[in-house]
Amino acid sequence: MAKPDTFALRKLPSVDEVLRTTAATDAAARYGRLAVVSAVRETLAAARANGGAPGGTDGVAAAALTRLEIAQRPNLRPVFNLTGTVLHTNLGRALWAEAAIAAAQLAMRNAVALEFDLGAGHRGDRDDLIRDLLCELTGAEDATVVNNNAAAVLLVLNTLAKGREAIVSRGELIEIGGAFRMPEIMSRAGARLIEVGTTNRTHKKDYVGALGPKTGLILKVHTSNYRIEGFTKEVSARELAALARERKVPLVNDLGSGTLIDLSRYGLAHEPTVKEAVGAGADLVTFSGDKLLGGPQAGFIVGRKDLVARVKANPMKRALRIDKIRLAALEATLRLYRDPDRVAERLPTLRLLARPKKEIEAAARRLQPVIATKIGAGFDVTVTPCASQIGSGALPMETVSSAGLSVRPRAARRSGRLLAALSMALRRLPVPVVGRIEDKALLLDLRCLDDEAAFVANLASLAIAEDDDAMA
Ligand SMILES: *Cc1c(COP(=O)(O)O)cnc(C)c1O
Repeated sequence: MAKPDTFALRKLPSVDEVLRTTAATDAAARYGRLAVVSAVRETLAAARANGGAPGGTDGVAAAALTRLEIAQRPNLRPVFNLTGTVLHTNLGRALWAEAAIAAAQLAMRNAVALEFDLGAGHRGDRDDLIRDLLCELTGAEDATVVNNNAAAVLLVLNTLAKGREAIVSRGELIEIGGAFRMPEIMSRAGARLIEVGTTNRTHKKDYVGALGPKTGLILKVHTSNYRIEGFTKEVSARELAALARERKVPLVNDLGSGTLIDLSRYGLAHEPTVKEAVGAGADLVTFSGDKLLGGPQAGFIVGRKDLVARVKANPMKRALRIDKIRLAALEATLRLYRDPDRVAERLPTLRLLARPKKEIEAAARRLQPVIATKIGAGFDVTVTPCASQIGSGALPMETVSSAGLSVRPRAARRSGRLLAALSMALRRLPVPVVGRIEDKALLLDLRCLDDEAAFVANLASLAIAEDDDAMA
C-alpha cells in the first residue's frame, strides 16, 4: 500500500461535518442516527487507511450511505434463475401461485381457524383443512402433512418400523443431497434396514426371503434422481403391494416429487402420479409439496386411514408439523388442480416447464443486442438452443428443449478468468443473475425469465472486473 498522504489525511472531514450534509440527514431519517454515525466512522477509518477520501465531505457521506444500503440489504434476496433448472433446490424450488401468495398473506395478517372447527365450535385438527382435497386429488382414504418429504419418510418409518425391520431394495437406497440418505434416515427412525437384491436387480423372491415376524414395513423408493440402465430388474409397486397384503405388512411408497397431474399433457415425460401410486396398492405414499406439485415446502403422507391415524398419533408429528402460512398456501395450491385445464396457467412451476421453446427463443433474440452492448467487447453473445432441467431430482434424464444466450469470452487464453469475472459481476447486481457455465461459455437459459424489462434495467450497474475472479 502507498504511504498515506499526510496532506490528504489532514483534509479528511470530521464526523460532524459529514453528518451535516443533506445525504447524511436523509440517511438518518431512513436508517436512524446511530447507524449513520457508525457508517460515517467506518468510512472515515477506511479513507484513513487508504490514504485519503476522494470527493471530500459529500464523497464520505455518499460512501457511508452505500455502506448502509449494502448492510440493510436482506440476506435472502430475489435472484434471476437463469440456470435452466426450474425447481432449483438451492434457489428455493417452486414459485408459488398468486392464489397461494394471497392465501398466505391473509393467514399472516389475521387470526385463522387453524385448529378450530367452526361448525361444532370446538377444537379442530389442522390437517382437516386440506384432507378432503388431498383425498380427492390422490384417491387416498386419508392424508396428513408435515414439514417436508424427508420428515414424512422419517415419521412413517418411526411409526411403522421403530424397533422392527424395514425392507428396501439395494437399488433404491438413495442419497438425495443435503445428507438425506435412506440408510441414515432409517437408523434415526429406529428401524433396522434389511437390504434385499443387488444394485441393479431385485426380484420378488428377495423380498419374500426377507419377510419375517420382525418386518415392520416394505419400503419402495422412487429413485427420482438417478437411473440404472442395462441389465436391471425391479419389482413393481403393484407386485409388491400384492405381496405386502398377503403377508399383512404395510407397503410404503416414497414417491419424492409427487406429481398430481400427468406431465405428458405438457410434452414432458410421464412421471408417476400420486394417484397411480395409491391405485397400485401402496398403503402409504409420501411426496413433497415444493417439487412438481408447485407449492410451499411440505411433505405429504396419504393412504390407509388406520395407518395415517397411527402416524398422526406419533408424538414426532407435533415436532414436524407445518404452520398456518404454509397450510393456507397448500390449500390454495391444491385447489388449482381441481381445474386441470387451467392449472398450467396458474401454477408457475407447470407454466415454466410447459413454456414453448419458440417463445423463449424470441425473448433470447430480443435480449441478445441489449446484453451484447451491456457486457462489452470482450465477449461474444449469441442466441443458442439449450436444455432445461426440471430439477429437485424429478426426471433427471429428461431435459426440456429451451433457448438462451451464450456469452463466450473472445480471449480463449483468459477464458476461465473472464468467465469467473463475468459470473461474479452478474451475481453482484442488485438482483443477482445466476446462469451456468457450459462448454467454456456462460449460458443464460431464459426459460424462467418472466420480466425482461426488469432484467434489462437491473443490468445498468453491471461492472466486470477481471481481477474479481480471485474472489469468486
Ligand atoms: C426429494 C425427495 C425426498 C426429500 O424430499 P424433501 O421435500 O426435499 O424433504 C425424499 N425422497 C425422494 C424419493 C425424493 O425425491
